[in-house]
Amino acid sequence: MDDATQTCREDLVLANHILAQNNVLDGFGHASVRNPVNPERFFLSRSLAPGIVTLDDLVEFDLDSNPVSSETRKLYLERFIHGEIYRKRPDVQAIVHSHSAAVVPFTVSSVPLRPIFHMAGFLADGAPVFDIAERFGATDMLVTCQEQGVALAESLDAAAVCLMRGHGFVSVGTTVQIAVYRAIYTQQNAALLETALNLGGPIHFLAPEEGRLADHSIQTVMQRPWGLWKARAEASQQ
Ligand code: MN
Repeated sequence: MDDATQTCREDLVLANHILAQNNVLDGFGHASVRNPVNPERFFLSRSLAPGIVTLDDLVEFDLDSNPVSSETRKLYLERFIHGEIYRKRPDVQAIVHSHSAAVVPFTVSSVPLRPIFHMAGFLADGAPVFDIAERFGATDMLVTCQEQGVALAESLDAAAVCLMRGHGFVSVGTTVQIAVYRAIYTQQNAALLETALNLGGPIHFLAPEEGRLADHSIQTVMQRPWGLWKARAEASQQ
């Protein structure tokens, strides 16, 4: 295996552990990375709680979300989230899907999830809400086929984060570090926004231009939080 692919697989294992440690993922949810050598493929764990994923658990998928080699292990039902976003968004290199308890209220509320601090500038233009019922009626709320994955990817469009009504959210990034960072800070911004709402009075969100400028700056220093998260995740595995 080439170095780029090896590094990206190791980063994906780390991403799983980091997201579990930060309570963005628990027994459910998942993270993936696009294959850096073959953009028509991506890596995602077999069906497993993210906190205990290892390199041996990673499965390579094509953009139809089928494993590229014969696979007998149980797979995530919602792998179509990943395949269809990678197909629609050539810029996206990594995806996180979470059921974060702090974020779920904003998937069903009329209060928009917009940035209230600079660390969530990637929410500058708001987070679209995917309502699976709009096209598929009453379902189990899970994205379990290509058509539902396509609909989610269409809702996401060019955004960094898409909320999923009554379910959770997806975050995307041009690197695995950015996708993980956005997932963690989507959760933080949701918690802080709820606090601000409880204070009462109107909310002074970041202006869209402020959010875009903040997002641009933060993306240049991803190695700093990643280094900390990586050290903590590795310490917790020992
Ligand atoms: Mn889910």
